[in-house]
Amino acid sequence: MKELWCWRCKMTVPMLDKDEFEIAKKLYNQGFKTNGINIKERFKPLLDYYTGLTGFDETVPNAIMHHAIHQYGPPCGKCGKPYRTPKASYCPACGNKRKENT
Ligand SMILES: [Zn+2]
Ligand SMILES: [Zn+2]
Repeated sequence: MKELWCWRCKMTVPMLDKDEFEIAKKLYNQGFKTNGINIKERFKPLLDYYTGLTGFDETVPNAIMHHAIHQYGPPCGKCGKPYRTPKASYCPACGNKRKENT
């Protein structure tokens, strides 16, 4: 787990690493097969897992599904925000051009 800027949420959120995200994904898929009166109940195992890991009280299961470190690029050398994708060539936050292989 690592706190990173999220382009969609427009705030710094706890992002999951690959192993953590694999588990979250399983719990997310289970949520669809579970009967519950509402989203919060059906995805409770996922939300509990995320909160236990991060201390962040997330209530939207879908948000967790884009909070994976590997879905983003490395942090920008200038402003520290992660590139929007692993292959992005510049940073939209500060306009910094990414040097190759960094
Ligand atoms: Zn987000
Ligand atoms: Zn930047």
